Amino acid sequence: MKLPDKVAIVTGAASGLGKAIAVRYAREGAKVAVADLNGEAADAVAAEIRAAGGQALGVAMDVTSEEAVNAGVAAVVAAFGGVDILVSNAGIQIVHPLEEFSYAEWKTMLAIHVDGAFLTTKACLPHMYRSGRGGAIIYMGSVHSKLASMLKAPYVTAKHGLIGLARVIAKEGAAHGVRANVICPGFVRTPLVDKQIPEQAQEFGISEEDVIRKIMLKDTVDGEFTTLDDVAEVAVLFAGFPSNALTGQSLVVSHGWYMQ
Ligand code: NAD
Repeated sequence: MKLPDKVAIVTGAASGLGKAIAVRYAREGAKVAVADLNGEAADAVAAEIRAAGGQALGVAMDVTSEEAVNAGVAAVVAAFGGVDILVSNAGIQIVHPLEEFSYAEWKTMLAIHVDGAFLTTKACLPHMYRSGRGGAIIYMGSVHSKLASMLKAPYVTAKHGLIGLARVIAKEGAAHGVRANVICPGFVRTPLVDKQIPEQAQEFGISEEDVIRKIMLKDTVDGEFTTLDDVAEVAVLFAGFPSNALTGQSLVVSHGWYMQ
């Protein structure tokens, strides 16, 4: 096991990538807080992990609420004794051409992706600093942390911003052994992506099949989606890496869609 007795908080862990990471971390020996806006679904994932022999706690948490984030992190510390790993993963997608974005939609996107990363990091860092064990902060970026696509102005802005945040935390956390890194996946079949396929088909006036072939997977080396397991594997690497040698980085896992 690669994460024995580590305490991990994963946000947006009731679904998709967050759930896959939470399940994998538990299998690697971590005690996992499954945090999500949907508290019932978070409890259900935590129960699944416990039924499989792991340790997990469901936490209802809106990552855009300072109060909810602080209360959730405090509950995890009370239950598990600290926090060693934060995966700031909660996210949504809204697609429009820029001129059709309402200011409210723009603010919602930045609140979940960027404010959520700030608030959860701020709540977890003091516990990591105090423990003397260091820690790992992992942001869920995207290939859109590196490049742009039409219709995704706030998403691309937010995902680029997470790289800047990770670099600052890498510098500030280094003396305490706290590392910060960004995972940048290509398209993975989750509810977030499944929702976009018909939306983009309508915006561009093309078939759903063409959204997948001619937009989503067009620039991959093999026409394949990235998988939940691919992303969970990188999340284990960043969480378990034993030194400050791997910090301030962003790792693209996208079937070669973006190469750096
Ligand atoms: P998903 O829709 O399957 O899961 C997202 C989860 O986040 C849901 O359980 C939802 O309830 C939760 N959530 C939403 N708003 C929240 C809030 N305010 N507070 C707490 N939880 C909240 O989506 P996913 O595809 O697993 O996406 C997870 C992350 O991965 C997002 O940050 C997304 O941008 C990123 N990402 C996804 C892909 C992909 O192709 N699926 C690619 C790159 C990056």
